This record gives sequence, structure tokens and C-alpha cells, in this order.
Amino acid sequence: MSTQQQHLQHQPGAAAARAALALPYRYVDTHFIDGQWVASTGSARNDVTDPATGLVWGSVADGTTEDLEKAVDAARTAFDSGPWPRLSPSQRAAVLLRVADQIEARSTELSLTNTLENGSPVSETKGAAANAASIFRYFASLAPLLESEDVRPFPNGLGESLVRRDPVGVCGLIAPWNFPINLMVIKLAPALLAGCTVVMKPASPTPLSFRIIMDGLAAAGVPAGVANLVTGSGRLGDALVRHPKINKVAFTGSTPVGRKIAAACGELLRPVTLELGGKSSALVLPDADLGAMGDTLIRSCMRNTGQTCYISTRILAPSQRYDEVVDLVTSTIAAAPQGDPLDPATVFGPSATASQYRTVLEYIESGRAEGARATTGGSKARLGGDLDAGYFVAPTVFADVLPGMRISREEIFGPVVSILRYNGIDEGIALANNTEFGLGGIVFGADTVAAQTAAERMDTGSVGINFFASNHAAPFGGRNDSGLGTEYGPEGLAAYLSYKSIHRR
Ligand code: NDP
Repeated sequence: MSTQQQHLQHQPGAAAARAALALPYRYVDTHFIDGQWVASTGSARNDVTDPATGLVWGSVADGTTEDLEKAVDAARTAFDSGPWPRLSPSQRAAVLLRVADQIEARSTELSLTNTLENGSPVSETKGAAANAASIFRYFASLAPLLESEDVRPFPNGLGESLVRRDPVGVCGLIAPWNFPINLMVIKLAPALLAGCTVVMKPASPTPLSFRIIMDGLAAAGVPAGVANLVTGSGRLGDALVRHPKINKVAFTGSTPVGRKIAAACGELLRPVTLELGGKSSALVLPDADLGAMGDTLIRSCMRNTGQTCYISTRILAPSQRYDEVVDLVTSTIAAAPQGDPLDPATVFGPSATASQYRTVLEYIESGRAEGARATTGGSKARLGGDLDAGYFVAPTVFADVLPGMRISREEIFGPVVSILRYNGIDEGIALANNTEFGLGGIVFGADTVAAQTAAERMDTGSVGINFFASNHAAPFGGRNDSGLGTEYGPEGLAAYLSYKSIHRR
């Protein structure tokens, strides 16, 4: 019996365990507008489903156009005449530091709510609050950069220009469901430090966890109207993107929706940051230490049950070590426990939604139909008890994958990795770059100079050597179909600034 199967046998009473959890929000009908929870003007509700059991455990208001108007008006007024944009960056940073403390104090409820919304194991979500707090603290540390005076002489001696970094205005922030807390926070924290005001829309499957962050913002003293949250469908997101009183849009999600948003913002000449899909490669060099690769493999190639934009789901192995790489990847993934995401030992949870579950299973079928060989997984996972109704796909490794196969080209967003073969470094690099995307990537290799040279040849926004992690201080963004613009770092802050040059004699 594999470790996975042994783990799966001990999952009794999952539904009862969930009902007993003390969570601040389950069934709610309010939006956060102008500093308070305000009842929705409509009666429609959207269910919140636990992907581990398929059970509905909450619901939120399906926001109306009127709700959105109120939220945008509150943000507009707070920007045009409220205190926030008029505080100094250091004063705003002091509030951001208090927000970080408030988030950390809510760590357990954030983790459990997130896990129940999207099935991310608690081994993943227990770090969400600390990570969100650390993002707020990082952007708070950039206040001196905003405060430093930037005076530039005219090259022809005519005088000098004072370059001001003004907040860009009212921002519409739209997040996806895979990391519902942090993918909103990486937009919110720089926007707030810059002096912007915001209206946020979380994804429909994950509308509850960010409410806890809103309580943290209020407790930290973020003034009314500065940060507003409305729940609702993609239709509401579209209305937010196009709203005439919005000055900037930031979005993380799928490439097709990103294209629509880019088109709308193009028409409106509205600045936009888009963090979209990926199909990144892990390039294994012939001298790679496979033991060390095994230690980081799941985090780098299948993090969050494969629902992470930057993970390297295409593993490129040199011909001479192909079988060794297939054995390592197969045994590492087969040994990682899949089960109830509330169990701290669980590594692989369910897919986040029923539709994502179906999509992943269709990709597995397409892999088989195109001739790839599943060395582990390759089907639904049968977990027993209440989890039988959950959206579990057995973590799957495909060997003998060819570059043209759909599983090699398209973002699956599930627990599926493909292993391709290459001959010689030039073919390896060419394979890594043979994609429409360009978000993440890894090079595994013992000779760090050769690994760095290979990393430099990869056409991607971020690449790690022998591991992958995003660094709050370094720009993160995609090339090609993976997006436009950057988040994190001073570059991520610049996305919320509008520059003004004041020329003087
Ligand atoms: P979407 O791109 O549809 O959703 C992301 C966010 O955009 C959600 O808040 C969604 O709201 C909102 N939205 C949907 N339509 C519009 C619109 N026209 N205008 C403005 N906002 C809109 O992602 P899906 O949930 O459909 O996931 C599909 C695929 O996207 C995944 O399989 C994966 O490949 C990719 N993806 C990539 C992510 C990444 O991190 N880069 C994250 C999530 C998904 P609502 O939820 O209410 O529809």
C-alpha cells in the first residue's frame, strides 16, 4: 500500500469536523463599503463550496451594479478629498505596519477559511497570514523611497525638474481563487503605500477569506473609503474594470480574461497590470543533484495541488538521465500524502472547484490519448467517507511527453507534471522557450555558473536555480502570454504611481 493510500484511509467525519470550526464568516450578505459592512442592495447570493466534500458551507451577496457604484464612489471621495492620499508616505507606512500585525493576529481564521474555500491544505494556508503581513511590512519599508526628493537638472542648463511620484488614483483590484489572500495583498499593499484608494473583487469560489483582512484594515486605522470590498461574479469584475471613476486596474487570473481586460483598458487608455497563466519549465542539467531536486520538487513543480501560476509543470530531463528523473519525480509525488486539506500532514488537496476538477481530468485523458505514459496517478482519487464527494485528482506524472502535446503546452492548473526529454543544452533551452507563456522556471544543476548561464537564456520573468520562491523585493511578472507589468519590488510600487515633472528655472 502506498503512503498516499495509507493516509487516505484515515479520514472519518470530515463534514462534522468542518461544521465544528469557529469561523468568523459563513453566510453573509454584506460588502465592505466606506469603512463598514453594508447590506447588498440585491437579494441574489452565491454559494461557497468546500471542494474537499462538495458541501456548501457559506454564501455571499452577488453584488449589484448599485453596490459597485457605492463602493467606487466611496473610494473616489476618499481619494479626492479624504486624508489618505494627503498623509506622508511614512504616515501611511505606519498604518501598513499595524495592518501587518492585525493580519498576523487573525492567522488561524484566515488559514481555515482559505482552506475551506479552495481546498488548499493547511500546510499551505497556515503561512498565508505571515506572508501577507510580510508583504505589508516590505512595502512599508519603501516609504523613504517615495519621500526622497528627486530633482533632475536639465541637460542644457535651462533649470531643473522636480519629479513627483503621485498616487495613480482609484484602483480596481481583481484576484483569483488559488491564493485568495496573497494575490490581493500584493496589489493592495503597494496601492495603499502609494496613497491610492481601492475597490477589490475576490474570485467567486473564495469570497470569504478577504473579509477577515478587511476587518484587520479597519482595526489598524485605514480610513473609511480607502479600501472597499465587493463580492460577485466576473460580470461585476468587468463593470469594475470599465467604471469611469477607476484610474487603474490590477488583475491576476486566466490569460483569456486578462486579454479582455487588456482590451477594455486599451480602449479606455487605463493603466493595467496583468498577472496571467504560465507553463514554466524545470530544466534538469546533466550534473543535477537529483536528491536535492527531490526535496524541492513538490513546492517548485506542484505547489498548492498544481494550482500556482509560476510552478514548473514541464520537467526537461537530459536523455542520459531521463529514466532516473522519471523515477525520482514519480516516487516523490507518489509518496506525498493526499487527503483532507484540514489534516496538517496533507500535501495534495482537492482541485478548488468542480469545473477545475473536470478540466484537470480532461487534460489527463488528453495526455493518454496523445501517447504520454502516466507513471503514477492518472485518474480521480478515491478517498472514502465524506471526501468521496470532493474534487480529488490523483497527483499525476506523465513520462514520454512530446513538445506538441496539449499537456506540454497548456496550463492545466492541477496536480499534473509532464517530463520531456532533450539532447544537449541548446535543445533543452529551446524546449524551455517553446511556449507562449513566460512566467517562472527553474534550472537544476550542480555547476552554478552553468546553471546561471542556462537561467539567463530562458525567456521568462523569473527563474530559480535549484529552487523557486518569489521574493517580495524583486519584480515578479510574466512575459508574452503570462502578462503585462510587474508586481513586488519598487517596480511593483511604481505601478501605483503617476509621475509628474515640475520644471523650474
Ligand atoms: P478567471 O480568470 O476567470 O478569474 C479570475 C478573476 O477574474 C476572478 O475574480 C473572476 O471572477 C474575475 N473575472 C472573470 N471574468 C472577468 C471579466 N470579464 N472581467 C473582470 N474580471 C473577471 O479564472 P478562472 O477562475 O476561470 O480559472 C480558469 C483558469 O485560469 C485556470 O484553470 C488557470 O489556468 C487560470 N488561472 C490562473 C491564475 C494565476 O494565478 N495566474 C489564477 C487562477 C486561474 P469570478 O470568479 O467571479 O468569475
